[in-house]
Amino acid sequence: MAMGKRDRARASGIEQAIWVDWRGPAVPNVAPNVRVYLGHESCEHLLPGPQEALSLVRRLGGSQLRPLSLVTPFLTQDGLARTRRLIDALLAHWSEMEIVCNDWGLLWDLATGHAGRLALGRLLVGQSLDPRIVGMLAELGQAPAARVIHHVDGTACLLRYRAASTEAAAHFRAVSADQAEMIDFFAGFGVERCEISHLRHGLLTSGRGWRYSLHRPWIPLSVQRCHGSARGRCPCRGEEQVWSARGFPVPLIHRDNVVGYRGHFDPADDSALIGLGIDRIVEGPDS
Ligand SMILES: [Zn+2]
Repeated sequence: MAMGKRDRARASGIEQAIWVDWRGPAVPNVAPNVRVYLGHESCEHLLPGPQEALSLVRRLGGSQLRPLSLVTPFLTQDGLARTRRLIDALLAHWSEMEIVCNDWGLLWDLATGHAGRLALGRLLVGQSLDPRIVGMLAELGQAPAARVIHHVDGTACLLRYRAASTEAAAHFRAVSADQAEMIDFFAGFGVERCEISHLRHGLLTSGRGWRYSLHRPWIPLSVQRCHGSARGRCPCRGEEQVWSARGFPVPLIHRDNVVGYRGHFDPADDSALIGLGIDRIVEGPDS
């Protein structure tokens, strides 16, 4: 029987992880060796409370051995205090838990307090995510066709797309956090992992030591500010909406307080992932 994508990745040494939406009606069946991601990436009011999180992990068959990552969003001062209580409650039971930080203040608080294993979240790492960038990278062959632009004075010109320079292409393929100064600074706090969203443009790394978790298929593009004042009174929740916009090569999806899109852009060969420093694949709840 042919190996599935998940089996192949496991055989190649890439850790498997799955997002579990703590708000979901049913608890999925997750094998004990598969890492569980829980929490919320973009709204502090959509994080579980300590008892909800503890209950979920126990219902997942949680033990000290289950690999577990709590994902946290950017935070207000009040949210930082609440999130710290959530983290402490979970760490009391799962001391090996990893905390994915999307807020510099929380990262500093945890790093200087030596609390938990830490990773830089997708909102902090600085990866270029705009789906239109692919059209600027000539070798990917997806540049828009030239088109005529009509001016108000009746004249017209032909707009041709020029491929990004080598320097610009390198910028779009790199992750901002992948710089020697940042790597060395965070290594001092034991932070050695970055969360990234896709390989749509190809990934260019410095090879200096970050390990990467590759998420799929959900790619967050833009995060809205939440105007909620407390848990349970947050306007972010609602039906998922699909938007289209001229010039965007993919449907845009609005869910919670994020606009993003979905897509798989991985190389077929898992050894290519390992070569880039990607040692974990995180499957979203809707993959
Ligand atoms: Zn919210």
